[in-house]
Amino acid sequence: MKHRVLVVEDNQPNRELLCDWLEAEGFEPLGTDNLEQAYAAFKNRPPDAVLLDVQLGAEDGLSLATWIRREPELRHTPVIAVTAHAMVTDQERVIQTGCNACVSKPVDFKLLRKHLQQWLSVASVLRKQTPAAK
Ligand code: MN
Repeated sequence: MKHRVLVVEDNQPNRELLCDWLEAEGFEPLGTDNLEQAYAAFKNRPPDAVLLDVQLGAEDGLSLATWIRREPELRHTPVIAVTAHAMVTDQERVIQTGCNACVSKPVDFKLLRKHLQQWLSVASVLRKQTPAAK
């Protein structure tokens, strides 16, 4: 079964690039360009993982990560932040909000693949250990 990956990125070329890459890698991508769409996607059918642009225009992408970590049913969902700047302070904030990993633009796809595989397998183990959460 294909893993569904939600891409939250307000820059269209970047979003398409990520979605095309995910599709080529055998994932089922779903692209959204703002937080409202991202929350709607979760309500509709929670994805297996999220690629999250930190800067969504005026919106703070990381607030989505904070929300996911507080939702009992969703909290194991792997969230990988995509940041425009490889600033150390940005990376700290990314990890503090509960993202599993951080990649900076331009995206190193080899690294992204490694993070996705690693955290999807961690999430599947955690889900089995906590039957209350699906
Ligand atoms: Mn952006």
